[in-house]
Amino acid sequence: MNKSKIGDGDFTIIAGPCAVESYAQMEKIGCFLDSLNVRYLRGGAFKPRTSPDSFQGLGFEGFRILREIKNKYNFEIVSEVMDPRDVEKAYEYIDIIQIGSRNMQNYTLLKEVGKLNKTILLKRGMSATIKEWIMAAEYIRSEGNENIILCERGIRTFENYTRNTLDLMSVPIIKSKTEYPILIDPSHGTGRRELVLPATKAALAIGADGVIIEIHPEPSKALSDGFQSLDFDEFKKLVNEIEKTKV
Ligand code: PEP
Ligand code: MN
Repeated sequence: MNKSKIGDGDFTIIAGPCAVESYAQMEKIGCFLDSLNVRYLRGGAFKPRTSPDSFQGLGFEGFRILREIKNKYNFEIVSEVMDPRDVEKAYEYIDIIQIGSRNMQNYTLLKEVGKLNKTILLKRGMSATIKEWIMAAEYIRSEGNENIILCERGIRTFENYTRNTLDLMSVPIIKSKTEYPILIDPSHGTGRRELVLPATKAALAIGADGVIIEIHPEPSKALSDGFQSLDFDEFKKLVNEIEKTKV
């Protein structure tokens, strides 16, 4: 059984870059997260970008890099799959398969990952209601896979100071309506690195099972989402603050 421990009571921190860019980048991040005893490493190999001209990710080469870092430091790896044809291959490399916001209603993909014995991280569609999100999880569950973690990553509203509006109320609502663990994504949920810490504290206070946070050794050089990524010092501070708040 490949069930993750997320949702078992502890506040889980998943961290890593938006995109896997190179072995050297991932080795730096892996070594850093290991030193903080963060055990879940995220990193996109297949990136759903708004423009087809933007960096699309390293694809399977990214998966290979993630596996090397996993084997070296013993991480659980979280990475996105966008295409049902890639699911079988992803199964070999990834511990938690992420279904991104843009694919929350890709029913072919949902049914495909529903056949796996593997944890699925289902992000909320940026324009999806909570009910639609729960029904998307139902597509996965109806194929037999009940190892589902939901992730609130913000929704589109008229507010444009933040990249998305982080709907924190989805946490108690999901808790009352489902059995699934729920994570908050403060990086995409706010789109601003200075808001990642307050959003993480709010996630902890409202009862989320954890957070998934984008970090980068040099955010200004990141190939995607650098503006919302924390550098190592900022992330270390966040981990320390959360540890203090937890006790
Ligand atoms: C990501 O996690 O980098 C990502 C693309 O997230 P979302 O699907 O929530 O936009
Ligand atoms: Mn991103």
